[in-house]
Amino acid sequence: MRLSSCHILLMFVLTAIFCSPTLAQGGEVSADRAYGHVENLVNIAPRLAGTAAEAIAASYIENEFRSYGLEAWIENFTIEKSYVIEENRLRVTLENSTSYNVMALLPGQSDEIMVIGAHHDSVLTPGAVDDASGVSVVLEIARVLSTEKLQRAILFTTFGSEELGLLGSEAFVREHAENNIVVTIVFDSIAPGPENGLRIGLRDSQEIATTEWLDAYAQELAEDLGFFVKSERSSAVGGYSDYASFTRAGIPGTWIYWVNPQHGNILWPIHTPADNLDAVDKVRLGQVASFGTQLVQQLAGEDLGALHRAYEELPLILAAFTVVSAGAIVLSIAAGSFMRYRRGWSWSQAARVFSFVTAAVVVAAYIWLLA
Ligand SMILES: [Zn+2]
Repeated sequence: MRLSSCHILLMFVLTAIFCSPTLAQGGEVSADRAYGHVENLVNIAPRLAGTAAEAIAASYIENEFRSYGLEAWIENFTIEKSYVIEENRLRVTLENSTSYNVMALLPGQSDEIMVIGAHHDSVLTPGAVDDASGVSVVLEIARVLSTEKLQRAILFTTFGSEELGLLGSEAFVREHAENNIVVTIVFDSIAPGPENGLRIGLRDSQEIATTEWLDAYAQELAEDLGFFVKSERSSAVGGYSDYASFTRAGIPGTWIYWVNPQHGNILWPIHTPADNLDAVDKVRLGQVASFGTQLVQQLAGEDLGALHRAYEELPLILAAFTVVSAGAIVLSIAAGSFMRYRRGWSWSQAARVFSFVTAAVVVAAYIWLLA
């Protein structure tokens, strides 16, 4: 049968309608979509690292990224240590099994990369809060920003084997040492607690502290959006997440999470059977996804060196300046009193001399601290 141009046009239109992949890109953050991802991931639980369930979760996430029109891929790595899963009398030993990092790239206008991450593996629980919630937030941020051209490139990543000791993020940092990764934001364990539960950053004297200037920047935006937010001390939290693989390698990183301040274990219900779908608040999940989207969008265009100075160095400089100035004033009053009573100076003479000395010390301190 010979096709007329009309037939060919009709076939072309039908092909375009039925065969083109439907892209779900851009628009507003949807709490329903985010919650739907948690539901879908919980249906694959437990997503133990190195098992078929992890592979299914990884390919679900990869397909989602692709449906947003992003270039997406999976990087395998080997879990070198062996581990044992025990439930009733079931015992599975995994040795040298394969785990996965799932990635999607939103190209930017420079070669600088921001990693926006979560982990898709769980312990022997439904893993709704820990960390299907974080994965759902990363997916929603990726979908909403997928049509944008930001200054920096964004590498959306869900890590495998976080629960075995940050193995996926360690493999990522090893594999991408040559890439210009400038900042990392990790969403892990969102939305199980009351309204005042948003936390950004972890204070710690050891190596698992998050980057203070980045915490402060993100907290300020969260406050502007109406959240109550603060950092926690690591002793109060008793856990950390994949950002630590980056900060240990010298890359600034922060952790966004949600706690139960009234509960003895503020990360409850993670790592318990109660970490199921009921523990995730859909509205709050959507709010964190909206906040995360704005944070990524805004941070992608910021001068990070200037943020570092503004949020970390400047407060220290101001504190030092205040201490030096106060010290100069106290010393001047003491010296003025000494001259008045021991040398018979008048108050006006002492005030003239020592206000001049104080001013000189303060100006010198100001110049020295800002130099
Ligand atoms: Zn986690």
